[in-house]
Amino acid sequence: MALFRDQVMKALSSVQDPELHKDLVSLNMVKDVRLDGSQVFLNIELTTPACPMKDVIRRDVESALRNIGAESVHIDFSANTRGPAGPPRDVLPQVRNILAVGAGKGGVGKSTMSLNLAVGLARSGARIGLMDGDVYGPSMPTMLGIKGLPPQLRGNRVIPFFVHGIHAVTLGALVPPDKPLIWRGPMAHGAFKQLLLDNTTWPDLDYLIVDLPPGTGDIPLALCQLLPLTGAVIVATPQQVALDDATRAINMFKQLHVPILGLVENMSYFVGPDGSQHDIFGRGGTEQTAAQMGLPYLGALPIFTELRINSDSGNPPANFTGNPTLAEALQLIVGKVAGEISKRNLEPSAPVLNII
Ligand code: ADP
Repeated sequence: MALFRDQVMKALSSVQDPELHKDLVSLNMVKDVRLDGSQVFLNIELTTPACPMKDVIRRDVESALRNIGAESVHIDFSANTRGPAGPPRDVLPQVRNILAVGAGKGGVGKSTMSLNLAVGLARSGARIGLMDGDVYGPSMPTMLGIKGLPPQLRGNRVIPFFVHGIHAVTLGALVPPDKPLIWRGPMAHGAFKQLLLDNTTWPDLDYLIVDLPPGTGDIPLALCQLLPLTGAVIVATPQQVALDDATRAINMFKQLHVPILGLVENMSYFVGPDGSQHDIFGRGGTEQTAAQMGLPYLGALPIFTELRINSDSGNPPANFTGNPTLAEALQLIVGKVAGEISKRNLEPSAPVLNII
């Protein structure tokens, strides 16, 4: 029996996006519906290429259409990463989402998480930038494998490095290490603006990930006030002292009206070469803190020797192609973060404070 377009759209309006909790038609995700008798061809436009729910959506669409008599259902997926609601921004209008990665203190794996989020999102097909704003811990050039390379300049403008599928700018490469003065106090705001925005040519991006300096001092504050952030991810290790610091970072974002996308637990536990798991810092502490604060929990990254080795040798893609347990842990975090950004972008825009 031949199907009609209205019937198909009605059936699809009963299918919910399992993460966004709205139906596919209201979300404007159904594109290019074509009918040939009782065969249905359609395109589903995801809100992020890193959507972890593709298979569930496929299953639910097939089932809804078979229920109205479709003999076969042919689904193509595409993605159109959405940015926050509201009018176009003045700052970096070519970037759909700017995401800060923060931590209450140094050494918890904030740069590691920023970089692996960037690589994971890029592997899903998203256009990714990485801004290394950690003026205190210049580990990013090593982790990217670009240590010692001079900045790429065109005229007097900085062109981000294109490495491992991401466009990256590291402050370490732009600022001589013997000139730390500019990073003090209110001057930091002007220096960041000049270096990272006014004088850098960022391409069109779906996500720009900003590795903030740790803590809640002048520098992370200045960066958060300068950039119109879609949201912030907080990296914590599970022991109580680290979580106390993370809570201070969370409160900073709240005061600045930066939406908090959630908390991720790094160094959750150690995975031995035989696959055995060793609880070192009190696994699960971050999830509890997230629940207490009413914030999403974005997953756990255990301690992996390979991760440290791949970071030291500037080869982060290997984290996604080597040890399957490591790849899976990272992939889950990447999907969860992308999902939280999509959810956030369905909400009305929060006011962005740009005062300093
Ligand atoms: P931060 O940016 O918070 O100062 P880094 O990301 O620079 O911390 O990480 C500090 C060190 O710990 C680096 O050598 C990094 O490779 C290592 N590291 C971070 N997370 C892990 C992990 N889950 N497993 C193994 N090593 C890790």
